Amino acid sequence: MAATSPGSQNRLLRELSREDYRSLAPHLQHVALSLHDVLVERNKTNHHVYFPLAGLIGVHTIFADHVSLDMVGKEGMVGIFIAAGVKTPHARIAVQGSGSAMRVAAAQFRILADRSGTLQRHMHRYTCLMLKHSAQTSRCNGLHTVEARLARCLLETSDRGGSRELRVTHELLAAAIAARRSNVTVAANALRFRNLIDYTRARLTIIDRQGLIKVACGCYGANATEKEK
Ligand SMILES: [Zn+2]
Repeated sequence: MAATSPGSQNRLLRELSREDYRSLAPHLQHVALSLHDVLVERNKTNHHVYFPLAGLIGVHTIFADHVSLDMVGKEGMVGIFIAAGVKTPHARIAVQGSGSAMRVAAAQFRILADRSGTLQRHMHRYTCLMLKHSAQTSRCNGLHTVEARLARCLLETSDRGGSRELRVTHELLAAAIAARRSNVTVAANALRFRNLIDYTRARLTIIDRQGLIKVACGCYGANATEKEK
């Protein structure tokens, strides 16, 4: 894909083979992502797969006793399970940072993937990376301190959104790192006291990225290295 092609800001689209991108391009639609837009509602049929170009999309998975949160930005895609025909009745997907995305009808994406072994392998590789990251995050949440996990989460979210300004509440962060909201507030206050971050109600700014990396657990390095492969 040429660097100026629509969608080139998204890593997955950029890494498609020329043939796969040519077959997909006529079906891609550029859409704006506005803060709090709901892309997938629980138990509702979703019709699109999204490739963010800028901004952040939050994937909330609702379990019986807790909610987990994964953030997806321009490195990835949203809706891969739906594209594969897997129902996701426990997922709610909403915009966490304004931006834009290319989207394609899920049924059309499935047709193209069925026709192309290289497109299938590309998507399988992404799914494996997602699962590996999810396993790493689960391990992190069970082993490391709230402060280290919060620093790791803020760095990852900033990387994916391409911005040091994050629109996140303590409640969202608590879901992302599997911690109590009150513990997130204590950890965020500690990071702010050391001038690593600042925040108002739902707007958080990373002030000292290098300082935050020193606080984060080694899981940040492991995940960042994997993303670069
Ligand atoms: Zn960790």
